[in-house]
Amino acid sequence: MTCLFCQIASRELPAQIVYEDDEVVAFEDIAPQAPTHLLVIPRKHIATLNDIEEADLALVGRLQYVAARLARQFGFADDGYRVVMNCNDDGGQTVYHIHMHLMGGRRFTWPAG
Ligand code: AMP
Ligand code: ZN
Repeated sequence: MTCLFCQIASRELPAQIVYEDDEVVAFEDIAPQAPTHLLVIPRKHIATLNDIEEADLALVGRLQYVAARLARQFGFADDGYRVVMNCNDDGGQTVYHIHMHLMGGRRFTWPAG
C-alpha cells in the first residue's frame, strides 16, 4: 500500500515536520490556506473518519490535543484558529489517511464553503 501521509510519517517522503511523537506527526501543508497551515496525522493508517474504531479513540483525541498545543506554540491559540477534518468526496477529502488541518494567523469565515 502506498500512502502519501504514511510515507511522510516514516520520512520516506520529505515534509516540513514541526512535531512528532510515537503516535502523531504534524507537518506543514504544501498548499497553505492560512499563514500557518499544519496537518496533524496519526502514524497509524486510517483512511477516513468513517474508519475510526473504538480502539482509536485516544489516538483521535491526541490529534486534537496536539493541534491545540501547536496553536499555542505558533502563537494563535488565544486569537483563534480553525481545525478541519474532511471526509470523502463531498467533504473535500483528497488524501485518504485521516488528517486534521490546523490553520491560524488570519480570520476565518463561517459557514465553510
Ligand atoms: P484534504 O483535501 O482534506 O484531504 O487535505 C489534503 C491536504 O494535503 C491538502 O491541504 C494538500 O495541500 C495537502 N498535501 C498534499 N500533498 C502534500 C504533501 N506532499 N505535503 C504536505 N501536504 C500535502
Ligand atoms: Zn496512510
